[in-house]
Amino acid sequence: MTPAAPPTVDVGGERPYRIHIGPGLLARGELLADVIRGRHVLLVSDDTVAPLYLAQVQAALLAARPALKIGQHLIPAGEASKTLASFGGVIEALATLGATRDACVLALGGGVVGDLAGFAAACWMRGVDCVQLPTTLLAMVDSSVGGKTAVDIAQGKNLVGAFHPPRAVIADTAVLRSLPLRELRAGLAEVIKYGAIRDLEFFQWLQSERDALLAGEDAALAQAIARSCEHKAQIVERDPLEKGERALLNLGHTFGHAIETAQGYGAPGNNNLNHGEAVAVGMVLAARLSAALGMAEAADTDRLRELLLSYGLPVDIPAGLAPETLLAHMRLDKKNIAGRLRLVLWRGIGRAEVVPDVDEAAVLAILQPG
Ligand code: NAD
Ligand code: MG
Repeated sequence: MTPAAPPTVDVGGERPYRIHIGPGLLARGELLADVIRGRHVLLVSDDTVAPLYLAQVQAALLAARPALKIGQHLIPAGEASKTLASFGGVIEALATLGATRDACVLALGGGVVGDLAGFAAACWMRGVDCVQLPTTLLAMVDSSVGGKTAVDIAQGKNLVGAFHPPRAVIADTAVLRSLPLRELRAGLAEVIKYGAIRDLEFFQWLQSERDALLAGEDAALAQAIARSCEHKAQIVERDPLEKGERALLNLGHTFGHAIETAQGYGAPGNNNLNHGEAVAVGMVLAARLSAALGMAEAADTDRLRELLLSYGLPVDIPAGLAPETLLAHMRLDKKNIAGRLRLVLWRGIGRAEVVPDVDEAAVLAILQPG
């Protein structure tokens, strides 16, 4: 991989924006102030992230722009806060602040805060600016980039939302030091996904940089984030509304979502896989299916499995999940067209493809335990 990843990645398209990556960026008030157009700012965060970083962001912002009127809105940490009720709470906070059309919503947190705050920004006065300040690795390499925002309803995840690209993304790698290792690994599963989809060289780099990444070294993380964001940016620029190529980003996700749904979306306190872990298993299943269909070499599955295992990620379906149940969940995936299973498979590492009509019997065989 090319040395010294750039500290910024530009995302093109109709509404271009810049991603800034590096340690200590949240203390750089001028970076934030530069992208804020009006006088009103609503800082949205959760009750885990806020005590760690919110005061720092607010102080930096006020130092750079003392006249700003800054409001705060906190939600309980976790997916359970990505609801229409929480959305209403953010909207009311914007109203209380007296936010005008040039207001800016600052989303300080993981993907939950980013999706919720981004959706509120998309709707307030038919759309105000949102700046993403992602604090999980998953948010830095995935949810903060690409403009998808949403909340969940009882019938399913992310069913209510909007495409609303951020005005900027500021990824301060120093905040990853407080992130639990399991969350870091979940983000690394999505990083590995970019290598698996379209970048063999990056895949190899991830093999050699594993220790530095798992140790949370800034330089390695910044490089991994930049490369991941470059891939996501290239894909969403060409296909912002997911009419084609953007579906590749779902490698491992149809299998992964089926696992997440079958285990009931991680009720607190149990041992369910989190999203990144489910995607890790899902990518291995996609690779195995590709080999079974004669599209790819089994040796590539082995390399993927070994890489994920070396990152401490799971590679097998958790015990007790029936193949028929998983297949039933896969049939409900949004990517399917006309009742046919449409999956992201691969020809080998770095060469993912959308396959429109996958044979269900072959999928069922892959879902068998052991
Ligand atoms: P999350 O936002 O729930 O964060 C995970 C946990 O880490 C939370 O408890 C949070 O409080 C805590 N945390 C966050 N930053 C921390 C830090 N620096 N130090 C210590 N603790 C910290 O989860 P996530 O994994 O970031 O995001 C998952 C969400 O993202 C899901 O709702 C998913 O649907 C969404 N998502 C959206 C997109 C998109 O394109 N919009 C893409 C992928 C995922
Ligand atoms: Mg994902």
